[in-house]
Amino acid sequence: MIKIRDLNKTYNLGQPNALHVLKGIDMDVAAGEFLSIMGASGSGKSTLLNVIGILDNYDSGEYILDGIPVRDLSETSSAELRNRKVGFIFQSFNLISYKNALENVALPLYYNGIPRKKRNELAAEYLEKLGLKDHALHLPSELSGGQKQRVAIARALISRPSIILADEPTGALDTTTSREVIEIMREVNRSEGITMLIVTHEGAVARATDRMIYLRDGRIESDKHNPNPVIEF
Ligand code: ADP
Ligand code: MG
Repeated sequence: MIKIRDLNKTYNLGQPNALHVLKGIDMDVAAGEFLSIMGASGSGKSTLLNVIGILDNYDSGEYILDGIPVRDLSETSSAELRNRKVGFIFQSFNLISYKNALENVALPLYYNGIPRKKRNELAAEYLEKLGLKDHALHLPSELSGGQKQRVAIARALISRPSIILADEPTGALDTTTSREVIEIMREVNRSEGITMLIVTHEGAVARATDRMIYLRDGRIESDKHNPNPVIEF
């Protein structure tokens, strides 16, 4: 579902302070995979994830998502493709602070033109799936970190994306809550068959996934199948 060939990205291209961040990335991801991209801070993980999520563009190479070449798309076409194909989970949750859990989860459907009644019904269904039925009307400030991340997972799931991209999803959580979030992501991957790509700098999170890609200074240093994924935290 993802095919990336010799992909390069430089920040401030052509300027004296140019920074070559992605240096010839080759990567294939099959539908239904549960994988991680690991690497030190500054190695280019978020940049790569943002390119994959069509939040950012790249300078050269090839990126094909579900058969669609992602290159030089207009704002409108990239937004449309992104809304249809990709769900995001972030370290800082990125929930809208003045909207309650239900409204946050329903938001992607608003952008997809789904009527309000249907949006709210579906949002309630996804909140229930994530064990947050009784928190639907709570604002993010009234939720714990783990509950906020579960709201974010429900929001990522609601538009039935083909892939969910998670950038340091446990970065702001304690160990117990991290475990809970990774278990939920694994369960979602299994039950909904949604491809799940987790970016992390934590080895323990990577070892919970089926495939570990190690990024170093903008290059893939290793790409290994993990025969025995474990949640050891
Ligand atoms: P990681 O997620 O692995 O920590 P990033 O992809 O965020 O790495 O960043 C890789 C490098 O690119 C870092 O040196 C960072 O400072 C730089 N960088 C990230 N975003 C930008 C930007 N918008 N403009 C310029 N440099 C950036
Ligand atoms: Mg990052």
